[in-house]
Amino acid sequence: MTKLSRQAHSGTGTWRDGLVVKFMVGKQGVVYRISPWVILGVCLLLGAGARLLASNQHSREQALKVRIAELEDEKRQAHTFLQRKEREKKQALALAQMRSEELWEELRARDQQMDQIWKVVGKHPASSHSKTRRSLSSSRSRTHPLVLKRRYLELQKALHGDDGEMKQLRTAAISYHKEQVRQAKLALWNTQPTLWPCEGYFSSPFGYRVHPVLGYARFHSGCDIAAGTGTPIYATGAGRITNADYLGGYGLAITIDHGNGLSTLYGHCSAVCVKNGDYVRKGQMVANVGSTGMSTGPHCHYEVHQNGAQIDPAPFMQHRR
Ligand SMILES: [Zn+2]
Repeated sequence: MTKLSRQAHSGTGTWRDGLVVKFMVGKQGVVYRISPWVILGVCLLLGAGARLLASNQHSREQALKVRIAELEDEKRQAHTFLQRKEREKKQALALAQMRSEELWEELRARDQQMDQIWKVVGKHPASSHSKTRRSLSSSRSRTHPLVLKRRYLELQKALHGDDGEMKQLRTAAISYHKEQVRQAKLALWNTQPTLWPCEGYFSSPFGYRVHPVLGYARFHSGCDIAAGTGTPIYATGAGRITNADYLGGYGLAITIDHGNGLSTLYGHCSAVCVKNGDYVRKGQMVANVGSTGMSTGPHCHYEVHQNGAQIDPAPFMQHRR
């Protein structure tokens, strides 16, 4: 058993003697004397160590504080970033919703236009677009991004894609246009005086000639078709009768207004079978060949007037009835 004891010299000893330590190992005593410089040195070392430890502790605390501050800052930045992203998301959704509504309105306007065109060209198809549009109808409650995206794509497809009805409408519009042109041409042909006024032979042209009755050169305001008395005279184009009576040197005469500034005159008739104001078809019988008025024999004196002026009828006489 080891017994440790410490005994300082006293009495005659000074601080320079230092510290005397006596150990008992077994029955023998061992004495150590520790120099005061060593003690001082140990004390100084311990003090320096304590100060170093304290300093390290302070540095660590400071570093931790800085790190905590940094983390707090990062947290704030992340929060701000998330808030901004949330705002952007809401804005994007609102924008998508607004664009969808615009497309929907555009689609509806186009459908209305198409309906109006269908009313003109007729033959509205059995599968009306109003049925197919039901799934795309306006709904402001659709806020889920995926639902919004699907609706947006469907709207775009309906608006810009060829959904069949547009093809049908285009075909119908072209047919309608062709029919309109055909009818217009027919109407024009009907009113144009393109027929011969009667059967017979062309005996005298339009222009200056020696008058058969007067015997001197005189302007012939029409052309003559020689034919037997009673030969039917036909309206050379559809129009309204503006004269069916005696008319000076023309004798018994018919005049027809064909519209578009054109009118015709049929002179020297023996009889008329229409009256003033009647509407006659192209090729309809209106009178009979005769020799009334200033005439030397039975013939039809035929005139064409354009805006009141007498013009050569020959270019108009394209067809015999
Ligand atoms: Zn004549």
